[in-house]
Amino acid sequence: MNFSGPYDPTAFHGISSLHDAVEHFRSKNGHSFVETKLKSLILQHGVSDLFGVALVHRHFDLEEGTILVEKDMVTAPWKCDNSFAKHGGRIVPISWFFKEGRPYPYEFGFFPYSKTDPPKLEQHASFVEAFFDAVNLHGLDNFVGLRRLSGHESTGMLECTEGRVNIMFPSNEIPAELLQNGTDTMWFFDGQPPYRMYRCACTNTGSSSNPNHNHIDQA
Ligand SMILES: [Zn+2]
Repeated sequence: MNFSGPYDPTAFHGISSLHDAVEHFRSKNGHSFVETKLKSLILQHGVSDLFGVALVHRHFDLEEGTILVEKDMVTAPWKCDNSFAKHGGRIVPISWFFKEGRPYPYEFGFFPYSKTDPPKLEQHASFVEAFFDAVNLHGLDNFVGLRRLSGHESTGMLECTEGRVNIMFPSNEIPAELLQNGTDTMWFFDGQPPYRMYRCACTNTGSSSNPNHNHIDQA
């Protein structure tokens, strides 16, 4: 498996809206696949402290020359050149989906100079190959991806979108019913059950003129 292809901005634009991703995921019994097969792969390979599972989706288009970068649980478009270096730190992939035989990064994280880089995907090649083989076999490539665990997450999070910014709210900052109304979009299997699960507040993917625009007001 080729781990080090160049970043391809067109790959991001091929990602489904949450609505379409959820529909496909449900039609393939995605929940039980994640909670049985993928969970046991993650535990078997001892990578539960490093990686989780993501429902691959997007809420908006990105302008040319920008990528989605997460810092402190806020993900926004950053202008970034091929150096993937900015503000004295490095910009490193945190989410990947599988396309044309290799993992494609589609979301990135900012790592300041004082923090060591997280392990590279190729350092866990046998796990990554087994993971994407299983996803492919289940017909969920393009919809189920890998997500790096950054370590400062709480057990529940709700992703809300404001414009082109995705903000993760920890569960203790939002009413429980709001969290429950969200769509499951990330699963982590570190620690003991109940495992962490993140949800996305977006329940309506918007108008035909802007199919990926998030309408949290309608949630
Ligand atoms: Zn989302």
